[in-house]
Amino acid sequence: MSVAGITYWNERLERMARPALERHQFDLLREQLGYVRSRSPFYRRKLDAAGVVPQEIRTLEDLRRLPFTEKDELRESQERLPPWGDFACIAPKDAVRVFQTSGTTGRPVRVMLSRKDWHENFYEQFSYFRCGFGLTEDDVLFVPFNYGLFVAWWGFQMAMERAGLMVIPGGGLSSKDRLRAMLDWGATVVCGTPSYLLYLAETARKHGIDLPGSPIRRIVAAGEPGAAVLATKKALESQWGAECFDDVGSTEISNFGFECTCHQGTHVVESMLLAEVLDPETQAPLPDGVVGELVLTNLCCESMPLIRYRTRDLVRFNRQTCECGRTFLRLDGGILGRTDDMFQFAGVNIFPTQVQNLLHGVDDFSQEWQLVVPPMGSGRHLRIRVEPANEQVARARIDAAREYLVETVKYRVGVTPDVEVCAIGSLPRVEGKARRVVRETA
Ligand SMILES: [Zn+2]
Repeated sequence: MSVAGITYWNERLERMARPALERHQFDLLREQLGYVRSRSPFYRRKLDAAGVVPQEIRTLEDLRRLPFTEKDELRESQERLPPWGDFACIAPKDAVRVFQTSGTTGRPVRVMLSRKDWHENFYEQFSYFRCGFGLTEDDVLFVPFNYGLFVAWWGFQMAMERAGLMVIPGGGLSSKDRLRAMLDWGATVVCGTPSYLLYLAETARKHGIDLPGSPIRRIVAAGEPGAAVLATKKALESQWGAECFDDVGSTEISNFGFECTCHQGTHVVESMLLAEVLDPETQAPLPDGVVGELVLTNLCCESMPLIRYRTRDLVRFNRQTCECGRTFLRLDGGILGRTDDMFQFAGVNIFPTQVQNLLHGVDDFSQEWQLVVPPMGSGRHLRIRVEPANEQVARARIDAAREYLVETVKYRVGVTPDVEVCAIGSLPRVEGKARRVVRETA
């Protein structure tokens, strides 16, 4: 029975009971392992070293026997054997499109895609997204993006065009001209990173452009956690007067998750990818509801499929059937942060973005904050430094807000913090990436 108002791309798979879905995944996985072992010298070495016989991989227990793939290994392979390394399963002559990672955490990784991956698998993944977002061929999509080596909206645009939406390519324009173009041509959907979409909204206000009164009814946000961070999402939705959807993926592993119209987390396309959530330190599997590292395996890709790829993204699984009827697991709150930012305190894994989310839900504090970590064994509490939102916030409101923050962090994060309210403007302001975590030495 269909759920009213919900459109699926492949209802049979999207609503499959978990045992059948897992059988489907393991059938694809065995095939994929045999394929990568025969095509990729990199994976042949890794699988043979781990003593893996592809045909024997049948259960979640067996899955644990497979080696992980780290981004550094991909980088090393391409440095040793430029330009492509030895992990690809296709020859460069079979590729129709290339991209590279942004290189924010080291040398960029180059990725090539075959005709099948680009035209069929990308299309398939984005078709799940499109139906999840509730887009139809009547929609007009504006893509404010500078077309280059970064994968960003290339694939999304290709798939939406093929599905029959009208696409307005917004490369090579100033932000103001982009806003004019999207209004002149009647865009109903706009995509971008959360911070760029907020910047566009600010630019619109500056030039007297009424976005909430425009025909734009949906925004698709990717590339940063923002779209699933409640406070950021609310800001995006009110400034655009549109419904905001989270879209997740990466250059190396492709497009793996979308938020549906029920807005209850970000669904993983489990018919094409196998997802695990593991303790970032011990790599032990974690139960639903516990924050850990997302590990993904490409079940369909033929060009550069990755096996148990450590994404470094922090997520929380929810395998309960969504209100939309989909059984595809959900990442509660989308991507919560990166393992690189995580630290341990009082036996608890602390993710700075988690504290940020809780803090940004308190209107009486400004958006600036710091987390002060005392040395081990000092007996001191973790300290959150905040500032009042403005001079008008009364002392009594600040005390109540402080108490509220202590209680929420205690309940949601699992440690009791001290909250230090600093003078307005005293916390450091930086352009770009702020240093939020401060370690005390004594
Ligand atoms: Zn759903």
